[in-house]
Amino acid sequence: MKALIIEDETKTGDYLKKGLGENGFVTDLARNGIDGLHLAQTGEYAIIVLDINLPGKDGWQVIQELRRTQETPVIFLTARDKVEDRVKGLELGADDYLVKPFAFSELLARIRTLMRRGKLQQAGVLRIADLELDPVRRRATRGDARIDLTAKEFSLLHLFMRRQGEVLSRTFIAEQVWDMNFDSDTNVVEVAMRRLRGKIDDGFDNKLIHTIRGMGYVMEDRSL
Ligand code: CA
Repeated sequence: MKALIIEDETKTGDYLKKGLGENGFVTDLARNGIDGLHLAQTGEYAIIVLDINLPGKDGWQVIQELRRTQETPVIFLTARDKVEDRVKGLELGADDYLVKPFAFSELLARIRTLMRRGKLQQAGVLRIADLELDPVRRRATRGDARIDLTAKEFSLLHLFMRRQGEVLSRTFIAEQVWDMNFDSDTNVVEVAMRRLRGKIDDGFDNKLIHTIRGMGYVMEDRSL
């Protein structure tokens, strides 16, 4: 589960990162609106905690631009309890807000509520050709056969099924599934990809995962 924190105040940012980390989130922290928006648009986050008063781009701009392409739940932090700020944030597409200073337990409770709501909306079964993945029941099948996957393989397949047709680099995959950084050894990704392909593509004429040389992998149904 990844969380993005966009907060320029060092103390608050570090506090949020530590707290969310202790509660099972893998966190990224951006200290200004420009970096924050970029991460939000390129990463896969379960939740975004967004400060409003930010350098670069303020929180309003971040929500507005993010909502053109993404539905990731956003909870924003406002300095004062101003009704017009709350209304503005929600109108721009944020899902909830908190007034600073806030108790961490309240933030956590609100995040959990938002994520539950999000999960209900995304609970649908993902499909490509005759391969199906049910994120809620954590089952994968190809044709009539059940595929046994490890937790990491499941995350990997889930990532590819959500991003069908997109070329995913080894670095991106490493970040999303293993929370590794750019410099990490991407061998781990190659080994896991080989295993996953063995499980979903071996014995089928219609291969669904393809290697794009020098770039990464793509999941697509080329029989169409
Ligand atoms: Ca601020």
